[in-house]
Amino acid sequence: MPLLVMKFGGTSVADLARIENAAKKVQAEVARGYDVIVIVSAMSGETNKMVGFVEGTSKLYDAREYDAVVSSGENVTAGLMALRLQEMGIAARSWQGWQVPINTTSAHSSARFVSIPRDNIDAKFAEGFKVAVVAGFQGVSAEGRVTTLGRGGSDTTAVAFAAAFGAERCDIYTDVDGVYTTDPRITNKARKLDKIAFEEMLELASLGAKVLQTRSVELAMRYKVRLRVLSSFEETDENSGTLVCDEDEIMESKVVSGVAYSRDEAKVTLVRVEDRPGIAAAIFGPLAEAGVNVDMIVQNISEVEVGSSKGATTDMTFSCPTNQVARAQKAMEDAVAAGMITYDGIVVDSDVAKISVVGIGMRSHAGVAATMFKALSKENVNIKVIATSEIKISVLIDRKYMELAVQALHDAFELEKA
Ligand code: ASP
Ligand code: MG
Repeated sequence: MPLLVMKFGGTSVADLARIENAAKKVQAEVARGYDVIVIVSAMSGETNKMVGFVEGTSKLYDAREYDAVVSSGENVTAGLMALRLQEMGIAARSWQGWQVPINTTSAHSSARFVSIPRDNIDAKFAEGFKVAVVAGFQGVSAEGRVTTLGRGGSDTTAVAFAAAFGAERCDIYTDVDGVYTTDPRITNKARKLDKIAFEEMLELASLGAKVLQTRSVELAMRYKVRLRVLSSFEETDENSGTLVCDEDEIMESKVVSGVAYSRDEAKVTLVRVEDRPGIAAAIFGPLAEAGVNVDMIVQNISEVEVGSSKGATTDMTFSCPTNQVARAQKAMEDAVAAGMITYDGIVVDSDVAKISVVGIGMRSHAGVAATMFKALSKENVNIKVIATSEIKISVLIDRKYMELAVQALHDAFELEKA
């Protein structure tokens, strides 16, 4: 039997009516001849509620009990989905993570998959069951404790099952009808993409297009799982939504596929750092240890001040999320106190946003950076930091120009046109 994985996010199973609606989509695929593995999230809001319960009970909580509590929302929806399918006359049962078992590491609340043995579920399909409903987001450690995969982890569960069971496709049902060229709330010219390459999706996911958990896209790319993002609130068919797939499947792609943004960025500059071998390691080592997610890094050309007794110095600039600035500053002060680095001062700019244009077509096309910079200059938007990779160009700009910049770039690359 051909097999599909269908994943329903929190808003798609938010109440009994929506679970019924989702079950009808499963029924339609069963009618087309598929065996189906359904992965469910908790009803929307439930996981947050349970995180609140844990934090309200214990400040320095035991991570194992945190996982025991916050994983429970998925158990409820898995059971309810199985019941609803049974009511429709479909042979279905629910599976909690430990029953499959979904074996993970014991890194509680950020566990990784170790293995997903197929035997138990395959045996049920062989008995004539049509649907296995699996609780997303959870697993079991070698110690036999319940684990969770990190917020948004059900997407990753879905991809892992699609890989383990060789599914024809992994359909991610959500509250949007696909992946867009940019956030439709910023410009009504944003266009839904029919297809997008794994690598592009990875950049867009990590840049704040919050449709899919980043890890799920990484996993899909590694195992070449064709992923489809589509709405559970609309009539859907084989051509609905956006297919996230290998670039070979995309016949003609535009140079730029999308414009992403990240609103809460900060720019931190260490002024006149001593310029010597090992200085970057002495700065970014402590930042990494402090858990600061450094993104862009710029080191200026070294200068020796005229008349200075000091050796050459350089300014080192990096970006990180706004809410990590205090931690970054503390890590730098500690590094100074430990004699690892010296500098004349730290300058923090907390009012910046990052805008990125992404596209696999950039690999073979010149001039993307020029088009981007021209579009921003036409709007008088000053660029503070630039970083490029093979398929992405990112700039830091003043946050107040964020929307304007996204609109200007969307226009400049004519993303509204298919
Ligand atoms: N329910 C979990 C969360 O809210 C996992 C998921 O929905 O993907 O993060
Ligand atoms: Mg989600």
